[in-house]
Amino acid sequence: MRDYYEILSVVRDADADVIKKAYRKLALQYHPDRNGGDKDAEDKFKEATEAYEVLRDADKRAAYDRYGHAGVKAGSGGYGGGHAGFGFEDALNIFMRDFGGFGGFEDLFGGQRRSRVQRGKDIRLKMRITLQDVATGVRRTLRVSVLDACESCAGSGSADPGGPVTCGTCNGVGEVRRVQRSVFGQFVSASACPTCGGEGQQVRNPCASCQGEGRKRSERTIEVEIPAGVTTGNYLTVRGQGSVGPRGGPRGDIQVVLEVEEDSRFVREGNDLIVDLPLSFSQAALGTQAAVPTVLGEETLKIPAGVQGGEVLTLQGRGLPQLGGGGRGDQHVRIHVWTPNELSPEQEVLFRKMAELEGEPPSEDSRGNRQGFWNKVKEAFAV
Ligand SMILES: [Zn+2]
Ligand SMILES: [Zn+2]
Repeated sequence: MRDYYEILSVVRDADADVIKKAYRKLALQYHPDRNGGDKDAEDKFKEATEAYEVLRDADKRAAYDRYGHAGVKAGSGGYGGGHAGFGFEDALNIFMRDFGGFGGFEDLFGGQRRSRVQRGKDIRLKMRITLQDVATGVRRTLRVSVLDACESCAGSGSADPGGPVTCGTCNGVGEVRRVQRSVFGQFVSASACPTCGGEGQQVRNPCASCQGEGRKRSERTIEVEIPAGVTTGNYLTVRGQGSVGPRGGPRGDIQVVLEVEEDSRFVREGNDLIVDLPLSFSQAALGTQAAVPTVLGEETLKIPAGVQGGEVLTLQGRGLPQLGGGGRGDQHVRIHVWTPNELSPEQEVLFRKMAELEGEPPSEDSRGNRQGFWNKVKEAFAV
């Protein structure tokens, strides 16, 4: 058994403060929470705590100075309770007792401590945007119903001027620790304190305005910036703008789920858009200039003479932008040649005249510029 002064690396006449500091340093180094169950670290933690427990106490220390380890053993001179059967559990309890428990321990590390306060729940809301918004990106202001800190109690939930009090069950730690032994060794299990639900504090006299919740419903305005190129189901996360947690918990997030409204003029295929353009026989045969809707406004499209029903003309780069940058899709214009379902007497005369002059329909084996016509039509329908 090593000498207690040696374990803590302190001189024999070190004062209480030096001993406490020396122990704290070792305890932080070998604490099980920092060493992931390492057996060696556990032993060192236990050893240092045992040495500290004896040397911090003037009576035990005097007995130890006089009789050595035998002087502080259980049953010998009434200084027991520490040394004999001094276990890992005792070590943890001593550390928690003198260093403010788990929360205090984490504070010493300056690291992330188990949050005693609950963060507000995330809010999910739907937002409808137009295809036009998708094309350009858009900034929107939204009114969101959130839970804000109660003004009467400043979010504490307590009507007492001093606010909530430290929980008696866990002494403000927020959790209850137990050392469990199994065939695999011993490990520490921690669970939320049943009295305070892990908050470490209790409201004795709940605030009448919020019934002790520490928060009340209110409206909040948020700004969202929707990038170009989004689709239905994409969502934006507005961090830390949602509801506060109960009794001083930080704000949760707001998730804005996007829903792109149907636009009857367009069919969307990824970043490409498809529009249907009806043409009369004569327009198709003679060629024309047609006004075509695009997502950025109307455009004039030159229709070549002899265009066929089902043929697809493409306006390159007039589709939707790629989300995150990197080009735009195309807009495809699908030609439909419509047949009049009623003819005026004058039209009928002309159509009959036309019929006399009309040639043969194009066929797969026909030569000339109509070659492959049917294939083209098939391709168009595959879009
Ligand atoms: Zn309140
Ligand atoms: Zn508690």
